[in-house]
Amino acid sequence: MTVKVLHMYPNMLDLYGDSGNMELLSYRLKMRGHGFEKTSYTIGDGAKTDFESYDLIYLGGGADFEQQLLAEDLLSCKDKILRAYKSGVFMLMICGGYQLMGKYYKDSNGKKIPGLGLFDYYTVASTNKRERCIGNIVIETDIGGKKYKVIGFENHGGMTENVKTPFGKVIFGNGNKFGSETEGYREKNVIATYLHGPLLSKNPKLADHILEYILSRKQGSPVSLKPLNDELESKAREVMFKRLLESGKNKK
Ligand code: GLN
Repeated sequence: MTVKVLHMYPNMLDLYGDSGNMELLSYRLKMRGHGFEKTSYTIGDGAKTDFESYDLIYLGGGADFEQQLLAEDLLSCKDKILRAYKSGVFMLMICGGYQLMGKYYKDSNGKKIPGLGLFDYYTVASTNKRERCIGNIVIETDIGGKKYKVIGFENHGGMTENVKTPFGKVIFGNGNKFGSETEGYREKNVIATYLHGPLLSKNPKLADHILEYILSRKQGSPVSLKPLNDELESKAREVMFKRLLESGKNKK
């Protein structure tokens, strides 16, 4: 099968290697004999884009300036994106992209950037630009009924409130706001998170979980992917868990 991805605003929303998430998905599909087809969406493409025809809609993270610039264009696609999400298209959003799917983002200049309002959460940044959640983060989430640690890097001024179904529980770092117990937002076909990394290279099980959802939906019956050799990834994860979780600092 060929997985079709719509990568929205790759030229504006791409912090700390977020585009690497796309390379990761492409690689992990190829290793299982599947194809990957990516379309880049840039400002003005709304009218010609059939959002529902994609298997995954992806937005990376971005600075306040870029978020402000693209907000109007994103809003003009609201109905189409809503239909795609309701039809089960998988939505993966990182940081700035996560914020823009909520009700609004009040940025560090106090400017309110309207969000798509797909979800009920909203985000407010301190106007003191030095007040940011920065650093490594580890959360615990559920993947196929099993607990899985997700590791990444966060750097955001925005504090997200009113998250009803978080992506995970914070075990190291901040999460949705300073000292938060929770991180990100999740639904069956939605993962929105503050974790850069890129997220999927550091957390291969999460990548496969997203791919299995997509392939199962396409095929109309459950798909389970054969494991890949993730020994290097596992070793890298162990080093970081040891460093962060055994240090005591910032640990919950
Ligand atoms: N500009 C947003 C904030 O500072 C998002 C940053 C990001 O995507 N890393 O909260």
